[in-house]
Amino acid sequence: MQDHFVRALYETFPEPVVMVDTAKTILSVNQATLQQFGYAEDELLGQHVRILYATEQDYNSCLNKRSMDGNTGAVSDSVYGYRRKDDTVFSAQLRSTMVSGPDGENCGFVGVIHDISNILKLDKARQDASKILDTALAAIPEGFAIFDHEERLLVYNEAYRRVCGPAGPFLRLGMPAEEIIQIAFAGGHYPEAKIGSAAGREWIDNRMFDFRNPTGRSKVFPYGDGRWLRVENFKTNDGNTVVIRIDVTELKETEMALRRQQLEYYTLVQNIPDLITRISKDGVVTFANDHYCRFVGKTAEELVGTPFLDIVPVADRARVASVLESLTPDTPLAVGEQHRILPDGSDIWLLWSNMAVFDNEMLMEYVTVGRDITMQKRQQERIARQSSELQRKNDALNQFTGTVSHDLKAPLRHIAMFSDMINDDIQSGSLEELPGYATHLRQSARRMDRLIESLLDYSQIAYQIGNWSPVPLSDVVADAILNLDSLIRDAGAKIEVGALPVVRGDAELLKRLAQNLIGNAVKYRRAGVQPVVRILGESRDDTDYLHVEDNGIGIDPRFASKIFDVFQRLHRDESVYQGTGIGLALAKRIVESHNGRIELDTSFTEGARFSVAFPKNNSTGKEGAWTAD
Ligand code: ADP
Repeated sequence: MQDHFVRALYETFPEPVVMVDTAKTILSVNQATLQQFGYAEDELLGQHVRILYATEQDYNSCLNKRSMDGNTGAVSDSVYGYRRKDDTVFSAQLRSTMVSGPDGENCGFVGVIHDISNILKLDKARQDASKILDTALAAIPEGFAIFDHEERLLVYNEAYRRVCGPAGPFLRLGMPAEEIIQIAFAGGHYPEAKIGSAAGREWIDNRMFDFRNPTGRSKVFPYGDGRWLRVENFKTNDGNTVVIRIDVTELKETEMALRRQQLEYYTLVQNIPDLITRISKDGVVTFANDHYCRFVGKTAEELVGTPFLDIVPVADRARVASVLESLTPDTPLAVGEQHRILPDGSDIWLLWSNMAVFDNEMLMEYVTVGRDITMQKRQQERIARQSSELQRKNDALNQFTGTVSHDLKAPLRHIAMFSDMINDDIQSGSLEELPGYATHLRQSARRMDRLIESLLDYSQIAYQIGNWSPVPLSDVVADAILNLDSLIRDAGAKIEVGALPVVRGDAELLKRLAQNLIGNAVKYRRAGVQPVVRILGESRDDTDYLHVEDNGIGIDPRFASKIFDVFQRLHRDESVYQGTGIGLALAKRIVESHNGRIELDTSFTEGARFSVAFPKNNSTGKEGAWTAD
């Protein structure tokens, strides 16, 4: 019964089993042998077992091995080469057992041939793989090493040796991790750790702590000669520690350069006098520089996160929103000026550059830069004012030369004419007219003197007012009346003064203005009628008025503007109304230098009525004032 089982096992055993007698003749083979070697059973039975070996040498070394084992019944394992019927060979481990007869005599051998070629193939693949791994490890720039659970060096690559610096040449398998660190440290490899100091010791302890408690997170510190090292430690499941050391100097330098740049950018943005904000594409403030914060009176913390339009003055919101919306990748920049009145009443001019930042046509954010251009604006205005004043002066000068040459020539012509007549009379001996001629000569000389004086007066009235102050016109008029006292008294004139406004300007010039107007009102009186002069004030909208009206001879409306020109008089005959024709030109110049206007009220028919208009909020600048051109 048992024999059957053994037989079945023999037949179905998956590995070749060969039985030989003492002469090594094959007695029996199982199915696996026939399959493995490719023979039919009768091709093997009775054959010498040598037929199954790859070479004679394989068979012989099998024999030798057996004899060395003393041909005992002990099991013997060895690897030999075998040959199939088709001449292919394979390696197999032979487990051979001597079979003893009932009296202990040697009956033969049973051999189990265990094909290990697959295992060998696997080993070869493994060897190849580890060779590839070694080459790869040697080639990678990262330092790589493995320490066993006793912290002894198991594997390392060339890059690891390099980053170990002074410890590199001493590296050997089995070297304790702490020894490596200490040699490197003693060689001054770690600038952060001062050799011999307590801090140095602590530094090594910290490194060892990191080594023993790997978190998988990296640390970066300086090493070697100004370089940076990233250190990563990992624990493997089998208790080894894998360490990776990467030289990150370039990365670190780039990072530091970037940080430096960021700092420079930040310092720049904070220090330039411009107002700078960054706004997300949904319109929320993400950054505001110090100047912007001061400008809107809020802290950066308050501003960041606020919708930008909430900060913009209500009146400007719609416009700013549409400006931002209008920006496209083709026209990402909009520049515009803004005039803003600050809470303290002062005003400021800003030049806004609103820019949309696009990345590949995609809106990323907005940047707004506001530059205070108040100074430039004021300068521009000053220059514009100066050039228009220059123009006016030029025009006046041209008019001057024309009129002056004409009017000054008249008395000169008289003088020449009378001198000729005196000369003729002296030659003819008729001297009775001479005193009369001499009187004419004197009068002409005097007239010329007056003309020159008044011209000088006119030219000395500056256009620019140096001394701006609030001036009550009632004071100015009172002074003028005092100065005109003898004229008023001689004419028996009645002067009525109403409530007068206070204007900004130069008191002395305004007095000259009042004096000219009131003087004319008294001077150009109607014969036989008591002169009545009314001086009235008025305040309307943004303008203060001074009206001077009289009941005198009046002025033909056709000459309403001509009378303001230099030397323009409607009465040539000086015996009736004396004057040089400069008074109203002077008045006009004074009024214009106060940014005001003077005109003859042609609707007034009882006499003459002059109206002077002064803009309220008048100042040195032209803002809020209209020009008198
Ligand atoms: P002047 O009085 O020295 O002649 P003005 O320049 O003051 O010079 O005046 C110019 C001219 O305007 C005068 O010659 C006069 O004809 C006319 N005029 C000025 N004021 C009056 C006035 N209140 N009534 C009538 N005519 C006037």
